[in-house]
Amino acid sequence: KAKKHLGQHFLTDENIARKIVEGLSFENYNNVMEVGPGMGVLTKYLLEKDQNIYLAEIDKESIEYLKNNYSKITEETFVGDFLKQDFQFTKGEQIAIIGNFPYNISSQILFQIIDHYELIPEMVGMFQKEVAERTAAVPRTKDYGILSVLIQAYYDTTYLFTVHENVFNPPPKVKSGVIRMTRNPKEGLTGNEVLFKQIVKAGFNQRRKKLSNALKILNIPEALKTHEFLDKRAEELSVSDFISFTQLWKENQ
Ligand code: SAM
Repeated sequence: KAKKHLGQHFLTDENIARKIVEGLSFENYNNVMEVGPGMGVLTKYLLEKDQNIYLAEIDKESIEYLKNNYSKITEETFVGDFLKQDFQFTKGEQIAIIGNFPYNISSQILFQIIDHYELIPEMVGMFQKEVAERTAAVPRTKDYGILSVLIQAYYDTTYLFTVHENVFNPPPKVKSGVIRMTRNPKEGLTGNEVLFKQIVKAGFNQRRKKLSNALKILNIPEALKTHEFLDKRAEELSVSDFISFTQLWKENQ
């Protein structure tokens, strides 16, 4: 019954479902959007909260099932494809995101959240374990890379817990990990986002090399050529190091 192309693996463990929902703080917002509710294993606990609930689901069968089984869910609850979401319906109000996400579109989901950073204060969700670990990784570890830095520049990310394959129907091939992302002030990044991304990507694309070499393709500004960071490798720089380095770069371009 589960549709593979939609990344459907239904969680069967109620305690884990409840624990995921309890991962949200429910503070400073009145709206929550669940991505991919499926049969509603998380939705059920969300509906107990004093929040306006919106559901992003593209599977017609799941939508019918949810409408028929939960009195609080109506046609108006549904907002369509998460990746096509423009969040206009919130009319500028803050909205938290939750989901046991379809793993085939993990990074698109993460970048969709960052693109709407101003509206999204918090996210709790399940990804395949490896992706969850990368989003929360710290410097000088093998998981620390492009995804870690690009996400953590906008959201403080915490790895909450691991979920075993056998609590899904059908079981996925890999373990899952639940993370929480809490919006941070994004200090110093405003207006520098494009350059920031270029520096982070170029740095990690040649992660064995010192940044003096890895960043050559970006034409390092003259004034920065003796900067101490260039003697390091990308994985040795913290997220705030990358941000301050980007600012300096911009000022000296
Ligand atoms: N939340 C349910 C659970 O925990 O049992 C289902 C999780 S299942 C891993 C992922 C869900 O995402 C499926 O119900 C699938 O139909 C839905 N989905 C896939 N692509 C989507 C998209 N672009 N927007 C919204 N939902 C999507």
